[in-house]
Amino acid sequence: MASMAERAGGEVVGVSAPWGQPLDPTNVETAFAEHSPDVFAFVHAETSTGVLQPEVPKLTEIAHANDALVIADTVTSLGGVELRVDAWDIDVAYAGPQKCLSCPPGASPLTLNDRAMEKVLSREQAPRSWYLDLALLEGYWGEDRAYHHTAPVTNVYALREALRLVAEEGIEERWERHREVAGTLKAGVEGLGLEMNAAEEWWLPSLNAVRVPEIVDDGAVIDHLLSEYDIEIASGLGDLEGEIWRIGCMGHSAREKNVSYLLSALGDALESEGFESEASAPVVSD
Ligand SMILES: *Cc1c(COP(=O)(O)O)cnc(C)c1O
Repeated sequence: MASMAERAGGEVVGVSAPWGQPLDPTNVETAFAEHSPDVFAFVHAETSTGVLQPEVPKLTEIAHANDALVIADTVTSLGGVELRVDAWDIDVAYAGPQKCLSCPPGASPLTLNDRAMEKVLSREQAPRSWYLDLALLEGYWGEDRAYHHTAPVTNVYALREALRLVAEEGIEERWERHREVAGTLKAGVEGLGLEMNAAEEWWLPSLNAVRVPEIVDDGAVIDHLLSEYDIEIASGLGDLEGEIWRIGCMGHSAREKNVSYLLSALGDALESEGFESEASAPVVSD
């Protein structure tokens, strides 16, 4: 997000938290007092660390008290974990179809409230991106149907079908399914003797970050799962490279049977790496 804003000519000030922890509203408040930004952007479901940002209304309240707009990255939240864009007073939220909506990539959900649209429509300078000129897009998406681009029609149908399935299941039921199924996953990896990266209160059901035990090579386990079981899990990024595995539990694939398959595969992969998992009989390693 920072890099995108900078490329668009924005001046970015970062508020950081240790990898594996959410943003601390106090630090956000301090940064506001010091820099008075026009926009505050944050990631709701942080896929690189398996952390769910709690207390979003606290963050939006700080931003609005300082006359700033709030942009939320909800790519791994939408359709997977509780997300209340309007009730939490988020001005702009974007997501992706390919995570918890289990839809092909290509067309992305985006929402702006009136406050954000007012800002878009009152710009003095045209934005540098013609394709993401939301004022032009409003004419295209709205009543006017003014030409702007050719829509990816097949993606729109795909997204409509994905959303229809969400409506059929019920959004709250879907959040609950993610919590339950990922809860089985979490209990299972803990049963194997592994630890989650994020504390319980920030646990992100749609992306489970699991600590790699000291004696285990993270890449060997990833390769083992892929070659023996056709399961792909991801490695850690940045500060957490080599420290965690990232296991997605998203959308249609968030099912108990996938979790039990993953758990037995992971137990096997760990065993072949010489890790004595607590769930299985003691393993004798050389
Ligand atoms: C996956 C992900 C992205 C990137 O989505 P793309 O569609 O690949 O650009 C951005 N933010 C978060 C939080 C994600 O999980």
